Amino acid sequence: SEHRLSDFEKLQVLGHGNGGTVYKVRHRRTAAVYALKLLHTDTDASLRRQVSREVEILRHTDSPFVVRFHGVILPPSGDVAVLLEQMDAGSLDSLLRRRGNRPFPEPALAEIARQALHGLAYLHSHQIVHRDLKPSNLLVNRSGEVKIADFGVGKILRRSLDPCLSYVGTCAYMSPERFDPESYGGDYDPYAADVWSLGLAVLELYLGHFPLLPAGQRPDWAALMCAICFGEPPAPPPEGEASEDFRGFIGCCLQKESGKRWSVAELLGHPFVAGRDRSESARALRDLIAETAES
Ligand code: ADP
Ligand code: MG
Repeated sequence: SEHRLSDFEKLQVLGHGNGGTVYKVRHRRTAAVYALKLLHTDTDASLRRQVSREVEILRHTDSPFVVRFHGVILPPSGDVAVLLEQMDAGSLDSLLRRRGNRPFPEPALAEIARQALHGLAYLHSHQIVHRDLKPSNLLVNRSGEVKIADFGVGKILRRSLDPCLSYVGTCAYMSPERFDPESYGGDYDPYAADVWSLGLAVLELYLGHFPLLPAGQRPDWAALMCAICFGEPPAPPPEGEASEDFRGFIGCCLQKESGKRWSVAELLGHPFVAGRDRSESARALRDLIAETAES
């Protein structure tokens, strides 16, 4: 692209990730604000591959439910800087933390689920699988928009579905068949894996902690993998506590057998997201964001 790093002024750090740091920056001439994801890839070939994969995917996307891509800068240092739309309310995991892990109310969750499903529907219709969906990769802004971000381990599926599973992404949100495709008939559906991750993310925001671990417990990866593969899927919240629609929705996402899991298109018609007053749930999410940002 035409941009240089020196065209931008760093305003603050927005987040840290695997290979670098995300800054809020201002374009000096136009005063436009962006998020700039700066990755130090000079020494790490796998990270370099990851970045080029992310950029390739972002170049192919144009959806209100996917964070906008504004170009890539290759400074002489060997770093890579990806210029993105800035989401001014941050990620859903930071929102949850700023709320002191207070659970999200159902109407706000319905709005999050609806928008994230539209994002997934868009990606999947372009043969893109995200493979790392989780609260820290779902971004929100003060207008109440939810967008999918961080395609570092995403994949554009071309002719064939890729059966050789690379163990990428955060294991915690990986569906059972990604650990153990054999026991699922070898019919590994990469799209269904994103649905599992979304269900887990929504349930986490409902509970206030990662569903497969008790609150406050740090993950033991081996135990977690066993729980995902051999344990029961995380139980929806109990009857009487959550609505029937919410319990049903979670149940449809967190089917261990990927063939029984609902597709994104089916979930968009689920009463939890489709059967409610849209403007009311949109307001609930905006209120939650405003309330959290102020506190
Ligand atoms: P990583 O691959 O390192 O996880 P991410 O793209 O997920 O990188 O960014 C890490 C964190 O930085 C996110 O969880 C979020 O808090 C923040 N962040 C990333 N992109 C943006 C953005 N466009 N707007 C606002 N915050 C962002
Ligand atoms: Mg991330």
